[in-house]
Amino acid sequence: MKKLTELVFNNTYSQLPAAFGTPIKPQPLDDPFLVSVNSKVSELLELDPEQARTEYFINLFTGNDDYPVMSPIAMKYTGHQFGQYNPDLGDGRGLLLGEVLTSSGQKWDIHLKGSGLTPYSRQGDGRAVLRSSIREYLASAAMAGLGIKTTHALAVLSSNTPVFRETIERGATLIRVAESHLRFGHFEYFFYTQQHAELKILADYLITHHFPEINEQKNEASRYSQMFHNIVRLTAEMIADWQAVGFAHGVMNTDNMSILGLTFDYGPYGFLDDYEPGFICNHSDYSGRYAFNQQPNIALWNLSALGYALTPLLEKNDIDHALESYQPLLQKAYSEKMRKKLGLKEKMEQDTLLFTNLFDLMRTQAVDYTLFFRTMSSIPHAELKTSSHLFQSLYKDLTPLEVWLSLYADRLEKDSLSDTDRLELMRTSNPKYILRNYLAQQAIEQAENGDFTLVEQLLTVLQSPFDEHPKFAAFAEQPPEWGKTLEISCSS
Ligand code: AMP
Ligand code: MG
Ligand code: MG
Repeated sequence: MKKLTELVFNNTYSQLPAAFGTPIKPQPLDDPFLVSVNSKVSELLELDPEQARTEYFINLFTGNDDYPVMSPIAMKYTGHQFGQYNPDLGDGRGLLLGEVLTSSGQKWDIHLKGSGLTPYSRQGDGRAVLRSSIREYLASAAMAGLGIKTTHALAVLSSNTPVFRETIERGATLIRVAESHLRFGHFEYFFYTQQHAELKILADYLITHHFPEINEQKNEASRYSQMFHNIVRLTAEMIADWQAVGFAHGVMNTDNMSILGLTFDYGPYGFLDDYEPGFICNHSDYSGRYAFNQQPNIALWNLSALGYALTPLLEKNDIDHALESYQPLLQKAYSEKMRKKLGLKEKMEQDTLLFTNLFDLMRTQAVDYTLFFRTMSSIPHAELKTSSHLFQSLYKDLTPLEVWLSLYADRLEKDSLSDTDRLELMRTSNPKYILRNYLAQQAIEQAENGDFTLVEQLLTVLQSPFDEHPKFAAFAEQPPEWGKTLEISCSS
């Protein structure tokens, strides 16, 4: 494990042409202090997590000290927000500080979110508040714990800098760590400003650093075509993961879509409590454009927008062909995930009905999505038909559930998986713990009063959400009624 000053940097993005961004330093936060550090993320960087408690670390990442081997740059991108093209986007309150190179050759972007004004700040103040930083911090840990691709958050730092939202809040900054911060919107920027040479440089950069296997192909057109195919596949796999676990992103604008299929830019996201396909987690999403059940279509819409931006590099046929692969890839990944959740090894035609009935039942009775599958994960086959009492707190009417349990038990007869293996598969596919909105809210309220206990406890549990954490069993329970109706907007 290294000290901060021992990290090796290779800042490739800042060496790209001037159009890619603006070199700029973070603006200092007043009296900075550490809120929390995620040791799993520091491990990725080979950084000793204790470093986060040093004055140098705290000063460095809050703009109060310098580190010459970094080359901070605000990235320029644009994108479609709620379906409308916006040319004025970019890192408005964030920066790519530099890129760490680990001993195995893995490159990690170190990004600050909340680091002050940049040329892309528009009307904004360049800041992030403690509330939203904790939300992103916990969510990225939760997604990583669930095995879902995501950006990571090394630490949250807070300060005495006042930041004005609906009320005065504390300025904070999040240290985001990711393989890449490239978004669909980076490509859209160069396309819509007709900088086609830069568009090509960007595509080559992406291939060199993230899809090196493609570089071996001599033919340029097929390289770019393969690149877009990869992006389509990674996006489809990410969406399958979201839908299976019950995650709603909330703001799937193309500037919030990672080119590597990482869950990216956590704002008003939400995990499903009760199963509600039309769940809208973003209070400002009046039309439900980004509702939970719209995510698969929206991702395709976003991929089409990206495909359009790639027209200078790719034949229309190749773009269409890649886009056509999205639905089947998504369907395949999603049904694999869902079959695991029910512990089914073989694919059978009748399973479609089994799932449809289950979803209908969960929807009409507003059943807690996570708790249902987790409860299912401990019932031996022989007990299934008499197990409905285990669901008493989840279903108002147990009769239709009993019918379904019986169908399920009969279906299991035809599967080759042993009961022990089935239950093991289900326990490792159905998390006990998700980041419920009300828990995040309680952690934030505590933290705003200077107590970070709940942040730490949630972090621990969310890092291994498939394990039992008896001390924190309460985190797995259904939310209180007030906790189901919290409103989260984009203001962060
Ligand atoms: P988001 O809704 O977080 O995806 O952000 C959309 C755009 O607004 C991006 O260009 C952000 O950098 C910018 N932005 C969001 N909040 C702020 C802020 N407080 N100050 C400056 N720019 C911001
Ligand atoms: Mg964003
Ligand atoms: Mg319920």
